[in-house]
Amino acid sequence: MSDITRRSLITRGSAVAAGAVAGGGLLATPASASEKTSGLTPGQALARLRAGNRRYVSSRMAGPNRSRGRRVAQAEGQTPFASILSCSDSRVPPELVFDRGLGDLFIVRLAGNVTSPEGVGSLEFAAEEFGVPLIVVMGHEACGAVKATKAALEDPNFKASENVGALAKSIAPSVEAAKKAGAKDIVESAINFNAKRQARILRQNPILAPRIADGRLAIVSARYDLETGRVSFL
Ligand SMILES: [Zn+2]
Repeated sequence: MSDITRRSLITRGSAVAAGAVAGGGLLATPASASEKTSGLTPGQALARLRAGNRRYVSSRMAGPNRSRGRRVAQAEGQTPFASILSCSDSRVPPELVFDRGLGDLFIVRLAGNVTSPEGVGSLEFAAEEFGVPLIVVMGHEACGAVKATKAALEDPNFKASENVGALAKSIAPSVEAAKKAGAKDIVESAINFNAKRQARILRQNPILAPRIADGRLAIVSARYDLETGRVSFL
């Protein structure tokens, strides 16, 4: 047995033990080196993400689906079980945050996790082509795109390129909503508003909405905490 294999077995054993102590939450979804990802329901997909994030938060990563076998199998065709619309921020990489591997997550990353036409088209493609049962719109603590949008709204002399302006335009309604709600911390509140708002926009999408209506797809919003690594579903 190689050192790496021995180490991963030890890690897995620890994760199961930790689950037992914590009330068995991890026992229902044990960390495994190889996991089938096709044919999942929206609920099963969400449970996988929650379990992966618990492993990440407790530094008991299993690194599923990263073997050579998985790589070769996925070359025949990908079977992602969730799409993630998340921020480009270098501190929020979905495969690490959810402890997943190859062919697991179909990811669109744009500053401020905004619903640009190209990003939405990618999510439509994943839903139709691969039957992805879950879309997560994930904002995160201290998002620079949201901070910049707030600054732009408050500075009449703010100048930005047309492209950065498009990002700010997409986030601005959430900053306004946080102000209207009387939030103490406008940026942190706007981050939640923005994740929820972008998810709402996706739910109204004519390609995605029928899939939600017949139970093939769920769209949820979430927020990532930079220090703890925890993903909270909103
Ligand atoms: Zn961000």
